[in-house]
Amino acid sequence: MIITGVAGFIGSHLADYFIDEFDIIGIDNLSTGNIKNIDHLLNNKRFNFLKIDITRSFKIDEKIDSILHFASPASPVDYLLKPLETLRVGSIGTENILKISTANKAKILVASTSEVYGDPKEHPQKETYFGNVNPVGPRGVYDEAKRYLEALTTAYKNFYNADVRIARIFNTYGPRMRINDGRAIPNFINQLINNKNLTVYGNGKQTRSFCYIDDTIEGISKLLKSNYKEPVNIGNPNEITILQLIDYIKKISEKNCSVSYKKLPINDPKRRKPDISIAKKIIHWEPKIPIEIGLLKTYNYYIENKNE
Ligand code: UDP
Repeated sequence: MIITGVAGFIGSHLADYFIDEFDIIGIDNLSTGNIKNIDHLLNNKRFNFLKIDITRSFKIDEKIDSILHFASPASPVDYLLKPLETLRVGSIGTENILKISTANKAKILVASTSEVYGDPKEHPQKETYFGNVNPVGPRGVYDEAKRYLEALTTAYKNFYNADVRIARIFNTYGPRMRINDGRAIPNFINQLINNKNLTVYGNGKQTRSFCYIDDTIEGISKLLKSNYKEPVNIGNPNEITILQLIDYIKKISEKNCSVSYKKLPINDPKRRKPDISIAKKIIHWEPKIPIEIGLLKTYNYYIENKNE
């Protein structure tokens, strides 16, 4: 199995999950990934790490059965800092990895995102919704890279008969998210740990639906093993506002930092919630971990790794 983006948050958890089943070639250029996330695998005979930029030409000699394509900057802060890298890995990088999949007749699951729905006008978001994306807004580099990834993957399926799976992953959280990646959960935990004000963008009434990493990984595994070649939403339908999220995290930390309101970023989606009827019906998956438990595990991880 090849995993691209293996040193990233989701990629490293995928490697842990699949290491008992596959020999893994883990690929990452360490642009936003962190080698520490896979430190514990580097001495494993079944795990081979390659520091490769998949947007450049590269060769894999081994025979490949399955590919999980997760390489991409993924937090709004990261893709604003790396707009061209984000576009290139979604386009050139995705095509390079699709070529490996067709040459090997390997199954390939590509990581797409709820961002393909943009600031959605349909709620909750079903896979049939085409989205409301601003191609020239700040989020355009990520949203359009992932929309192109889906189009390209589908073209490979139709033209080369590639054995594809498309996971539209909604907000996911858990251990190994970079504490400074700029996203809501790491930001709030970091601010609470350091007794800083909690930065709420806008009025905090915008919603997200947060899925704990173990649930996400199970969903991805079930999708990979299915035969379903259309996009599938992988996310937790439990929709909360950012202010509610803060209440949950405050309760866990038993701290009471004040909120400081900041400007809402341009094109920040107002509401987001997956309709997971397809995932339930086709791959018999739905998330199980309640947000209180997931946040507690995540909080404890950051406390344990505070000085790293
Ligand atoms: N957000 C916030 N304060 C922060 C970080 C994020 O209020 O310190 C808000 C952000 O504006 C968005 C939501 O939290 O509405 C989720 O943001 P995140 O960056 O985690 O991911 P997104 O879902 O926007 O990709």
